Amino acid sequence: MTLEKNGIPTPAQLAVIKPSKERLAKGPVVLVECFQKIPCDPCYSACKRGGFLPFEDINDLPQMDYDKCNGCGICIGACPGLAIFVIDETYSEQEALLTIPWEFLPVPDEGSTVQGLNRSGEPVAPVKVVKVRPSAKKNGAMIISLAVPKELADDIRSIRVKD
Ligand code: SF4
Ligand code: SF4
Repeated sequence: MTLEKNGIPTPAQLAVIKPSKERLAKGPVVLVECFQKIPCDPCYSACKRGGFLPFEDINDLPQMDYDKCNGCGICIGACPGLAIFVIDETYSEQEALLTIPWEFLPVPDEGSTVQGLNRSGEPVAPVKVVKVRPSAKKNGAMIISLAVPKELADDIRSIRVKD
């Protein structure tokens, strides 16, 4: 199955955008899971640190300078495609801090436990909501940080919140 057919990136596509082990070991860093050439670039202007390299053409896929990214997460709320995440593998020995976009209701409470879902929407593991913050962009997605088991940090990309 390809991204065009099921909307899910392949392992090969994900490998291309993953920061190096050395960069991941330094702290939070952006993961841009944007693989379809569409006329879109608000991520570029949302980042004031130069994390996104200038687009030569608006249809280009984002290109990153991971050393300029501090993992602030501002670009998450600016992306209409909900394609941007931040991972912090230094969060604790057992858990990574995964930050995701969230544009649904209900909004989870900080400190609550929600169901972590994979890219297909299937349950993976319960995860703890560490932080909930609004987007800097009007009507942008909320930005939710989750403590996830390190071994599942590459799989979990969404959550299910009980009413
Ligand atoms: S997480 Fe922050 S620093 Fe990193 S690319 Fe996004 S806006 Fe820039
Ligand atoms: S804003 Fe999101 S969808 Fe648009 S180019 Fe950037 S990462 Fe891709």
